[in-house]
Amino acid sequence: MGIQDQNIIVVGAGIAGLTAALALRARGANVVVLEQAAEITEVGAGLQISPNGSVVLGALGLGETLAKASVRAQAVVLRDYRQSGEVLRLDLLRYAPDQRFWFVHRADLVNLLADAVRAAGVQVLLSQQVTSVIGGKSPKVTLADGHEMVADLVVGADGLHSKVRLALGPTEDGFFTGQVAWRAIVPNDLGLANEAQLYMGPGRHLVCYPLRDGSMVNLVAVQERDAWAAEGWAHEDDPANLRRVFADFGDTAQALLARVEQVNLWGLCRHPVAARWQSPGLAILGDAAHPTLPFLAQGANLAMEDAWVLAQCLADGAESAQGLAAYQTKRHTRAAKVIGMANGNARKYHLRSAPMRGAAHMALRFGGAMAPARMVRQFDWLYRYDVTA
Ligand SMILES: Cc1cc2nc3c(=O)[nH]c(=O)nc-3n(C[C@H](O)[C@H](O)[C@H](O)COP(=O)(O)OP(=O)(O)OC[C@H]3O[C@@H](n4cnc5c(N)ncnc54)[C@H](O)[C@@H]3O)c2cc1C
Repeated sequence: MGIQDQNIIVVGAGIAGLTAALALRARGANVVVLEQAAEITEVGAGLQISPNGSVVLGALGLGETLAKASVRAQAVVLRDYRQSGEVLRLDLLRYAPDQRFWFVHRADLVNLLADAVRAAGVQVLLSQQVTSVIGGKSPKVTLADGHEMVADLVVGADGLHSKVRLALGPTEDGFFTGQVAWRAIVPNDLGLANEAQLYMGPGRHLVCYPLRDGSMVNLVAVQERDAWAAEGWAHEDDPANLRRVFADFGDTAQALLARVEQVNLWGLCRHPVAARWQSPGLAILGDAAHPTLPFLAQGANLAMEDAWVLAQCLADGAESAQGLAAYQTKRHTRAAKVIGMANGNARKYHLRSAPMRGAAHMALRFGGAMAPARMVRQFDWLYRYDVTA
């Protein structure tokens, strides 16, 4: 059956689900999105959207809207936690002028996607919690109120605890990485530039970048520690805990941390990439397929890549089964490679021994001084990857 004739249920109205709904609708499918929440809301936090993700939004006609809602990133700057001097500057404007890197508020991205999805004629049904899923020729979802819905394809964009992933077979549990992340937004009254700053300290790092016309700063602070914390953004923490853990960071960090009034804490777990992304009548994408540690800022970007490729494979495949198989083949290796790199980054940022940290920072300084363009272009495989080409 061609994609034009298909009725598709997308479970989850996060970045993966909304992008998939839009991409599938653009190929002519009839799409319904089921979201468990009573309204489409997002935690107050920022996202870095890199060209490999924004190219998908551009192809879906949202390039301008994204640009208006975002701050264009000019550089990524790595710093030692105590000194304000630069260890490495990745000057994006100078060495990747044709590429657009964005800082965007999650709520703004989700809202612009939701508006586009509705305008394209997709129904977004709220307060619809899917409790079980069965694949096959006529896949079926059951909702918490007992209601059942049948479609030609059920797409699981239902995040970490995906019910659709469960329907694809047994899943392996994730494990606590011994790292937690705090997230907060503070006013940008320090006038920080449109750059991502990453302060690297022993067992900890802090990332900050501006949002919304530069009027706010997004903070992500990561600590290695033994005490477990729950996975998810529902858990508020006392800002005093965050300030205590980062008390030995430099002046800018202290000024930002002093402004934190509300903060959420997330226990970072590592989950294996799903071995199986599809079966007859079912497919998964985004965090449902590959929950990603935030050390490369790629979870949402990968989700958007997935969404485009899924719709394209379904449109290209003579049969749905061929399209789904092609989707998994195209996406698994790419997602696993990106996630592998993200997993390794925490170790690099958190070097505990002062001599090792000094040597690593010296190597980065040397690379940045001798070959600044190469330092940026080493990531071409990641950021110049264009699923829409
Ligand atoms: C600290 C941190 C920083 C990050 N920074 C970045 C970054 O800068 N750039 C980046 O690209 N990524 C970043 N990420 C990763 C990114 O946030 C996620 O990978 C991405 O949001 C996943 O989107 P998703 O739509 O797959 O899942 P989710 O956002 O989890 O959405 C799932 C949706 O499904 C709904 N749902 C779940 N179960 C059901 C059900 N049974 N029935 C109905 N609905 C259901 C949920 O309510 C939700 O709306 C970061 C992550 C963390 C933890």
